[in-house]
Amino acid sequence: MSDPILIDSLDFAKQRRQLSGVIAMADLPRTHDLLANTDGSLTWSLAGGADALSRPTLRLRLCADVQLVCQRCLTAIPFRLEADTVLTVFLYEDRLEAACEDDDALDAVLAEPEFNVLALIEDEVLLGLPIVARHEHCEPEVRLGGSGKPNPFAVLASLKRKPE
Ligand SMILES: [Zn+2]
Repeated sequence: MSDPILIDSLDFAKQRRQLSGVIAMADLPRTHDLLANTDGSLTWSLAGGADALSRPTLRLRLCADVQLVCQRCLTAIPFRLEADTVLTVFLYEDRLEAACEDDDALDAVLAEPEFNVLALIEDEVLLGLPIVARHEHCEPEVRLGGSGKPNPFAVLASLKRKPE
């Protein structure tokens, strides 16, 4: 596991700080049951700023090449994940809730002195992965991880990901 990346989120936004890095997919365990394997890495950058109403924001950009599980043949399918998210930072929960009521599209977080950037990145990966992935044309000779058998956890993930 890599060390947690903790920031004071309000200060980071107000000071317009910037941070970036590379994380192995192996270090994002909550994403693993959506992936055919944990190969590859993710590049990310976080930038403090302000929104149109001059409220402090965090902008997270990330890009990763991952292997999803094809829902038809249960082998790996490559997928490029790119995300660009702006979160508005609120100091008080009631202000956050009022702002979200005014603006359905608002992504908001509460200010935290030790905001976990890795957890945010993991959340964004989970949000950004497609519910269902399929090869355009399945190629049965391509096997998961070269083991010749579908990963049982990947099969489980495909069962869990049916729409509710
Ligand atoms: Zn397939």
